[in-house]
Amino acid sequence: MRPAVFIDRDGTINEQRGYINHISRFVLLPNAGKAISLLNENNYIVVVTSNQSGVARGYFPIELVEETNDVLRRELAKDDAHVNGIYFCPHHPDGVLPEYSRGCSCRKPNIGLIQKARSELEIDMERSCVIGDRWLDIEFAHNADLPGIMVLTGYGRGDFEYIVPHKQIKPTFVAEDLLRAVKWILKQDK
Ligand SMILES: [Mg+2]
Ligand SMILES: [Zn+2]
Repeated sequence: MRPAVFIDRDGTINEQRGYINHISRFVLLPNAGKAISLLNENNYIVVVTSNQSGVARGYFPIELVEETNDVLRRELAKDDAHVNGIYFCPHHPDGVLPEYSRGCSCRKPNIGLIQKARSELEIDMERSCVIGDRWLDIEFAHNADLPGIMVLTGYGRGDFEYIVPHKQIKPTFVAEDLLRAVKWILKQDK
């Protein structure tokens, strides 16, 4: 079995631009493709885990999330990078679309997305970890009993400066960006 890296999408792989409610708002962060291709080369399973509550809130259709994820795959392919799975939560308890407006087990920091990935991919959880730009991603890692690496892209710098100091759970490592996070993971694994 191979280890997985569960990577947040917005603010970690692509630029944080509020809700990505149109594919024109999807811009890959510098070195994100290189980071993921490094994981591919080193035999890691790459899983994207993303909250997309804009669906429940009626900001954009669920098809837009799929379309954006297709753009993500295409952009990564330019750097010979690929992801093994993309899992997202379209729900929110205070949404407006009845079919998505409820509490759920897949909205991070709940670990439903990781459980779903585990049921579909052969993952060595002992060597897996989470990378994300928000405090919520660190909580998500903690809830799944995995190391949580915080990147300072997206909301990262603000969450690190203003939220992390007040929390008991700390990131296992803080990296400038996804590429540096990946390099750190690979070093630990040696
Ligand atoms: Mg994010
Ligand atoms: Zn959900």
